[in-house]
Amino acid sequence: MPKVIIAGAGLVGALNACFFAKRGWDVEVYEFRKDIRQMEHVQGRSINLALSHRGKSALEAVGLKEYIVTQGVEMHARLIHDIDGKTIHRQPYGQPGEHIVSINRRHLNEVMITEAEKFPNVRFFFEYKVVKADPKAGCVTFNHVGNIIESKGDLILACDGAHSAIRRSLMAYPLFQYSQEYIEHGYVELNILPLNNDYALEPNVFHIWPRGNFTLIALANRDKTFTVTIFAPFELFEKEMYDDSSVLGFFQKYFPDAFNLLGNEHLTETFRRVKPLPLISIKSEPHSFERKILLMGDAAHSMVPFYGQGMNAGFEDCLVLSEILDEFDGNIGATLDAYSKRRCLDAHSINDLAMYNYNE
Ligand code: FAD
Repeated sequence: MPKVIIAGAGLVGALNACFFAKRGWDVEVYEFRKDIRQMEHVQGRSINLALSHRGKSALEAVGLKEYIVTQGVEMHARLIHDIDGKTIHRQPYGQPGEHIVSINRRHLNEVMITEAEKFPNVRFFFEYKVVKADPKAGCVTFNHVGNIIESKGDLILACDGAHSAIRRSLMAYPLFQYSQEYIEHGYVELNILPLNNDYALEPNVFHIWPRGNFTLIALANRDKTFTVTIFAPFELFEKEMYDDSSVLGFFQKYFPDAFNLLGNEHLTETFRRVKPLPLISIKSEPHSFERKILLMGDAAHSMVPFYGQGMNAGFEDCLVLSEILDEFDGNIGATLDAYSKRRCLDAHSINDLAMYNYNE
């Protein structure tokens, strides 16, 4: 059987491992972090994510959709909160019954790693940092606790995220088109605790407090908490949320209903402890190199989160790759050529839609 090397055991890498495990290939997954299943705290981006049809279809193909969906919280509509702290507007996502799902990032990632690991043909290597990849030789170089190690594969999937080391080692590749843009907004994550052992807000909706140039959102978790995210220009964080009283004043003025639920102590403690995180949008083309390496997920097309499609598009990458491999009867070279041709345009489009939604 051919051997696939997957760089990164994040959302897209772990799902790819499930796809190739089922295909019976020899699968090696190399992850920079420790095994998240054994970590107390996992550093990283958004605590929960909106899983939509695109992502669900990919999970269905590896038999995980039903289980994952039961692990999340259904969201049937957007609920817009006005600045008076009282008026709300409901915008259904689709027909009755149609919904997206709020899902915990860490749990989703853990489930996929555990699922892939059930197969004897899959091996995970944690604390292996990808240093570079050589597309001609089909070789990836890793640093494992100070030791330099190499592995050769028939196919290399770069699923090592927005700051992909594999993509970085391909930057000088002839005709490789690459662009990145940091937007002027950053984000800070907060938390609303349960109230009287129940959700403090309506759970089955996507809460939004749109305020022109900045916005607050809240997605429910299964433990009856909400993960709340404020997106604002870095300049606004600096000018209007720079100390305890300015943070409290800002939230009280613009998000009065959420302010009461977030609480003074939580707000001030969080803003003292964390700095707003940046958001990056990346386009690249081609996605395939020397018919050996494929950029996938954020490594290929990181996008701003305002369309809720980064992970979903990455999951769709895995499904599309699997379908094209079937179409070409497992021929890797032909699959990679076709994948890159078909997928780049789609990736650019969803990236543009996400940016358009940001500007909106
Ligand atoms: P990542 O999740 O970044 O995983 C990359 C993995 O590679 C990590 O495990 C990392 O440790 C590992 N790695 C990195 N470098 C190396 C290296 N050198 N060697 C080995 N391993 C390495 N998307 C949605 O669909 N819906 C949402 O609601 C949504 N909300 C979001 C909210 C925010 C605030 C943000 C920032 C993003 C959101 N996204 C959302 C986007 C989503 O988080 C990403 O698209 C998704 O995480 C991409 O998955 P990935 O596996 O490609 O990359």
